[in-house]
Amino acid sequence: MKTYNIAAVPGDGIGVEVIEAGIQVLKALAQRAGTFALNFKQFDWNSDNFLKHGHYIPEGGLEELKTFDSIFFGAVGALNVPDHVSLWGLRLPICQGFDQYANVRPARVLPGVKSPLHNGHEIDWVVIRENSEGEYSGNGGRVHRGLPEEVATEVSVFTRTGVERIHRFAFELARTRPRKHLTLVTKSNAQRHGMVLWDEIFYEVAKDFPDVKVDKELVDAVTTRMVLKPSTLDVIVATNLHADILSDLAAALSGSLGIAPTANLNPGKRFPSMFEPIHGSAFDITGKGVANPIATFWTAAMMLEHLGEPAAARQLMSAIEAVTEAGVHTPDLGGTATTRQVTDAVIELIKR
Ligand code: NAD
Ligand code: MN
Repeated sequence: MKTYNIAAVPGDGIGVEVIEAGIQVLKALAQRAGTFALNFKQFDWNSDNFLKHGHYIPEGGLEELKTFDSIFFGAVGALNVPDHVSLWGLRLPICQGFDQYANVRPARVLPGVKSPLHNGHEIDWVVIRENSEGEYSGNGGRVHRGLPEEVATEVSVFTRTGVERIHRFAFELARTRPRKHLTLVTKSNAQRHGMVLWDEIFYEVAKDFPDVKVDKELVDAVTTRMVLKPSTLDVIVATNLHADILSDLAAALSGSLGIAPTANLNPGKRFPSMFEPIHGSAFDITGKGVANPIATFWTAAMMLEHLGEPAAARQLMSAIEAVTEAGVHTPDLGGTATTRQVTDAVIELIKR
C-alpha cells in the first residue's frame, strides 16, 4: 500500500483549528479508500515559538521538510509579531526555498453558497500566481533609517526563466479545462520593463498552445471584469502581487475567504509542494471554534490530486459540495455551524 508522508505546519491562530480538522478528514478518506495511507508529522513552527526561541524554522528544519511528500500548511501571523517578520520567517522561506513557483488558486461558487454578485454563479476561475519572484522577490533595502532623508526601495525582479515557466504552466493548466481560455494580466502600460517582458514571453509561449484561446487585460481593468462579466474569465495568469490581490477578490466573490484554497506547487516535484487555505490566522475568530474549514478541505483535495490520488480527491470534493449544499455553513457564509459540525458532516459523508 502506498504511504504518503505529510508535514503538517498549522502555524498560528485559526491555522491550528483548520489543519486539525483537515487531518481528520484526510485520515477518514484514507481509511475509507483502503488503498493508500497518510502519515502526518506535526511541526510546531509558529509565532509563540518564534518569540521564545528567535526563529520560526529551526536549524536543519528545511532539510527535514524536504523529505516529505507534501506540506499541509495553516496560516502564520500574530498580533505581537510584525507581519513581514512572520511571513518571511515561515511561509516565504518554504515557498522560495522549495521553488514552489506556481501558486494555483481556484475560485468557484460551491453549491448552496451565495455570491455577493447577482451573476456570481458564473464564477469558475483559476488564478495562477507567479510565486517565486516579481514584486515579492525581497530585493531592496532601507538607508538613513529614521532620518528625513530615509530611502527605501522594493525592487520587482522578473527573469526570463521565471516568467516563461509560469506562463507555460498556465497554458498547460488552461488546456485541461473545458473552455481552454487564458487571460494575461499585467500593468504593462505604466510599468514598461518587467511587465512588458511578461507580455512578450506570454505571446512567445502561446505559439506552442494553439488550442488555448488567449486575451489580455490590465490589472485594474480585470477587477471590473471579474465583478461585471465573470463568465468571460476562465484561467488568469498574473504576477505575484497582482494575483495575490485578484485571488482574494475571487475568494470574496465566490462567497468567503473561508472557502478559498491554494496550492504552492513545485511542478517538477524536485521539492515537496505546499497546500494551504488562502486566508490568514484570523485573530477576530481565533479560539471561537467557528473558522470555516472548507478552504482547508478543498486544498486537501488539491494535495491528494497532486500526490496521485485523484479518486480520493474527487470523493472529498463531492463530500464538501454536499455539505455546503445542505446549508451546513459557518458564520462567514451566513450560517451558525461550528468548525466541528462542518468537519463531522464531511467525515460522515466520506464514511457512508
Ligand atoms: P485573515 O485572512 O486572517 O482574515 C481576514 C478576515 O476574513 C477576518 O475577518 C477573518 O475572520 C475572516 N476569515 C479568514 N479566514 C476565515 C475562515 N476560515 N473562516 C471564517 N472567517 C475567516 O487576514 P488578515 O486579517 O489580513 O490577517 C491576519 C493575520 O494573518 C496577519 O498576521 C497576516 O499577516 C496573516 N496572514 C497570513 C497568511 C498566510 O499564512 N498565508 C495569509 C494572509 C494573512
Ligand atoms: Mn494573500
